[in-house]
Amino acid sequence: MSIALPIFSSDIDEQSQAPPLAPAQANRPGQLFDSHGRVIHDLRLSVTDRCNYRCRYCMDPDYSYMHKMELLSLQEYLTVVRVCVNLGITKIRVTGGEPTLYPELLPLLEALGAMPIKDIAMTTNGSLMTHRRAQAWRQAGLHRITLSLDSLRDDRIAHITRTKSNLQSTINAIKVAQAVGLTPIKVNAVMMRGVNDDEIADFADFAREHDIDMRLIEFMPLDSSRAWDRSAVVSADEMLDAINARHELAAVDRSDPHSPSLNFGFADGAPGRIGIIASVTRPFCGACSRLRVTADGKIRPCLFSLKEWDLRPLLRNGASDEDLAAFVVDAVWTKQKGHAINAADFVQPERTMSAIGG
Ligand code: SAM
Repeated sequence: MSIALPIFSSDIDEQSQAPPLAPAQANRPGQLFDSHGRVIHDLRLSVTDRCNYRCRYCMDPDYSYMHKMELLSLQEYLTVVRVCVNLGITKIRVTGGEPTLYPELLPLLEALGAMPIKDIAMTTNGSLMTHRRAQAWRQAGLHRITLSLDSLRDDRIAHITRTKSNLQSTINAIKVAQAVGLTPIKVNAVMMRGVNDDEIADFADFAREHDIDMRLIEFMPLDSSRAWDRSAVVSADEMLDAINARHELAAVDRSDPHSPSLNFGFADGAPGRIGIIASVTRPFCGACSRLRVTADGKIRPCLFSLKEWDLRPLLRNGASDEDLAAFVVDAVWTKQKGHAINAADFVQPERTMSAIGG
């Protein structure tokens, strides 16, 4: 599938090259495939690289944002989504940066809500979430949210996020989400040795108390300070041991084989669930169904891609939906087999999680 690539002269760089042509079998109507036979149906769309937090595992205080002109417009995001949905994307997660800082969030959600998308989710730190905003998001078409909370202690939250945020702010966001029906609610916590790993079982209590899916995430090498070290990773096994010592866990049937988390309920039937995202010690790349588009229009077939495919020059030079679709099909075909965090020659991507979209 070949297309002419109209590009701005300022966009001519290595990243603006078209992906190699995928073979004909990649272009099956209504389904996006990569070259390893995985079906890609889950789009993570980042709508901003701005964030009001500076989480230590993600973004340094002096982190430089992209220029506003580099970011896609609302219409450009919607064009990308329309093309991806026509290709077989059925699930969208709006993320960032902090997506609630994106000025056009509501019109974006309204437009997504009018598209044939089965599952529309958003990841947010919840700090800017009010009842009124959440209700408007829900009415627009957002189905559910995932919040971030890395400690249950206010001093640690302040330390990790480098803000004055506190536990009550996340509890308020959970209550608002429950009240307006943005459920099921997931809450992400990145577990780091010596920082919050003594709170693992407390997070299980928190899940039970608030009837939420608590997702404990292994720290990944995606931080802007490049301070990631294997010794800072708290493994899935350690997390499971710590929780089981307080509350016996019961494995939950994997209703979604593409879910990144190992999912558990509580053996005593208490509300709440635990999900462990073990990207480092138990990679799940074989079941990956995800595709990422950054706020500046780069397709990242893998979270750890070292090569991105730039949609922006096409979007800004009047490419047709067919041209864009061909580009997406070719880009997805290049998705790497695995993230290679555990390989001796692993190279951390330039982009941090905040600039990719978590
Ligand atoms: N600002 C929103 C938030 O706080 O949820 C969305 C963006 S944030 C980058 C998305 C998710 O990425 C968060 O839940 C965070 O825990 C996760 N994350 C960021 N850096 C990470 C890292 N180095 N390892 C593991 N997870 C990370």
